[in-house]
Amino acid sequence: MPDAPQQPAADPDRPDLDLSGVAPATVAVVAGRPPRVPDAPLNPPVTFASTYHAGGDVEYGRYGNPTWTALETAVGALEGGSALSYASGLAAVAAVLEVLLPDGGTVVAPRSAYTGTRAQLTALEATGRVQVRPVDPADTTEVLAALDGATVVWLDSPTNPLLDVADVRTVAAAAHAAGAALVVDSTFATPLLRRPMDDGADLVVHSATKLIAGHSDVLLGLVATRDSTVLARLDDQRRLKGAVPGPMEAWLVLRGLRTLALRVERGQRNATTLAQRLRMHPRVDRVRYPGFGAMVAIEVSGGGAAADAVATAVRLWVHATSLGGVESTLERRRRWESEAAEVPESLLRLSCGIEDVDDLWADLSRALDSAAG
Ligand SMILES: *Cc1c(COP(=O)(O)O)cnc(C)c1O
Repeated sequence: MPDAPQQPAADPDRPDLDLSGVAPATVAVVAGRPPRVPDAPLNPPVTFASTYHAGGDVEYGRYGNPTWTALETAVGALEGGSALSYASGLAAVAAVLEVLLPDGGTVVAPRSAYTGTRAQLTALEATGRVQVRPVDPADTTEVLAALDGATVVWLDSPTNPLLDVADVRTVAAAAHAAGAALVVDSTFATPLLRRPMDDGADLVVHSATKLIAGHSDVLLGLVATRDSTVLARLDDQRRLKGAVPGPMEAWLVLRGLRTLALRVERGQRNATTLAQRLRMHPRVDRVRYPGFGAMVAIEVSGGGAAADAVATAVRLWVHATSLGGVESTLERRRRWESEAAEVPESLLRLSCGIEDVDDLWADLSRALDSAAG
């Protein structure tokens, strides 16, 4: 896994713990634990509470929860900032757009941004609240040319499902020079493969539903930032709007985070091997793999019908939407009407899990052969 520069991260429950110089795989395991006192549990318990005894700092279940705090501490340490958790990835996206965008603001955003993010931006534009400038995030020249007068630059990197990678460092510098804030949806990279704030991003968004939780059993979103003013505004907004996660959800995501390094390593290895083999397969016209991560996209020869046939012919792979679980899943993205026009009809998005790669290959190559159209 690439080395990410580290910076000290505060863990309120562990003042003795200095995470500077500690590798991300270690941070994912050690951060967000209870204090080391005799008979304290190793893991934060799930705290089910709508209200707390009066006179403290929290008071009410919409304002705070110790299980969220444990997760936020760990994710903040991984991204090198402070994190807030939300009911879903899209709740986190909505919170960031609301807090960062004044009425009349301008957002530069990928044409192929995640469908839900695009739908939120389209809805905001339809009410006249903001103006959206669509760009290809991998075309840095196009992104830079769109910055004049922008309030927010939004990047998904890599994008879902085209797997385009943005030059975050160059865009961040230019966005700041133009007076805009840069947000990166880093769901596909996870905090282990990229740390966008090290490259100058102001905020990072994750659908923890995907790789961070990793078991296809929970929805949760995260935002991380180093800007204490933005953090305070987001916290106020979350208290008011109430898009908070349940404590059980936060606990499940933290449980998933503990094995993130292992799962990403294995998923990435499987994805690399499968991308190589798929490039040689006669039924595959194009393979998209950014060179890191567990996601691969292929264009099946024979068009949308052939891609649908592959999706229904697999037996070990699971035909389902979403991604990032221990189980390998695939989906033809254009089966969704909301999917971007840039996404080819024949594109299958593959989320590589942790199964044996030869079993995955045997199942997928047989499905491709059987779907020959
Ligand atoms: C799934 C996803 C989201 C939305 O997250 P939910 O948890 O489903 O609300 C946002 N961005 C990306 C890149 C995603 O893949």
